[in-house]
Amino acid sequence: MFANLDTANYSETDSLKGLLYFDEAPVSIDFANDKIVGINRLEKQDLDNDLYIAPGLIDIQINGYMGVDFSGPNLTVEDVEKATVALWAAGVTSYFPTIITSDIDRLKKNFAILAKARENPRIKQSIPGFHLEGPYISPFPGFRGAHLEKYIKKPDWEEFQEIQKAAGNGIKLITIAPELDGAIPFIKKCVASGVVVALGHHNGTAREIELAVDAGAKIATHLGNGCANQINRHYNPIWPQLSEDRLVPSIIADGFHLTKEEVRSFYKVKGVDKTILVSDALDLAGLPPGEYIRGERTLELTPNVVKLPKENVLAGAASPISKCVGVMMDFTQCSLKNAITMASTNPAQMFNLKDLGEISLGKRADFIVFSMVDNKMEIKKTYIAGKLVYAQE
Ligand SMILES: [Zn+2]
Repeated sequence: MFANLDTANYSETDSLKGLLYFDEAPVSIDFANDKIVGINRLEKQDLDNDLYIAPGLIDIQINGYMGVDFSGPNLTVEDVEKATVALWAAGVTSYFPTIITSDIDRLKKNFAILAKARENPRIKQSIPGFHLEGPYISPFPGFRGAHLEKYIKKPDWEEFQEIQKAAGNGIKLITIAPELDGAIPFIKKCVASGVVVALGHHNGTAREIELAVDAGAKIATHLGNGCANQINRHYNPIWPQLSEDRLVPSIIADGFHLTKEEVRSFYKVKGVDKTILVSDALDLAGLPPGEYIRGERTLELTPNVVKLPKENVLAGAASPISKCVGVMMDFTQCSLKNAITMASTNPAQMFNLKDLGEISLGKRADFIVFSMVDNKMEIKKTYIAGKLVYAQE
């Protein structure tokens, strides 16, 4: 059940007891108004449960949730609130609604809706920015993934400025292909205007990737996905992005989009401080399994992924980022601390969200309280800015 977001009575100091995700030791965390004001060590016997406390999860790539598609034709301001509230129950306290390659008018319309939704005081703290994935990506099959070819184009700064204006300057991340004509100057302009540039859905050469990084690109969007099934074993976009120390990959560690060996290899190369987990979840995520009609396509939602049953291929991710935390621990044997770092601390740092992503004095009191059994995270409570926004029934 979702707690009532009454803005009155939360000014006194409140506190929360549990196992700190950092070292799994018992603590009590004090918070007043919206900030963390104290972290006190406890003895094991002071706890009446074995639940963990971590900073809220931050997902910088999520296409929709609970039936709400941020790129869809009928998006409303109310839909954005509905998706946000549902994400709280999944432990996501901040996220970047992601709009993929679409008709330019649709991009402007939907970003304007997102910008309007951000004015809602109930959810505004959960949406620090937006992600535009496309339309300046590779038009080639495989590399373009599920993006519609007819809307893919070359980078156009004036056009992007119009989209950014419609978005109320809220686009903080753009995913583009570095090999397109005009991509490098476009990246420089994005970086100068404060937009983080990610490389994705591309078939850039090592040289093109290097030039893009020199121009300021920082992220490799869902590394290992958005790539053709058949690639040259020496010359493909994966190696140069993996070997480039200045690029932080985002990875979809839902257990299905990458093999265990890919996840382990990426993690070994990049390490905990240079890896970001993303869900890349589709709007069907959070809904009950079954068949759903989207446009002209029938999609099958299983408990794990979205499939196109006719073609028997993956159509997208169906799990929130909390699932990726557990899969990351399972696949790499990393600690809870490291998995949370990749799903909260690192995205906060990448986007200069200084008060998020950590449990330390002065940070915003965004917490999740959860159990962790067999590497499965189950969210019990979610707090944003010191307010309880979700409690499991
Ligand atoms: Zn993608």
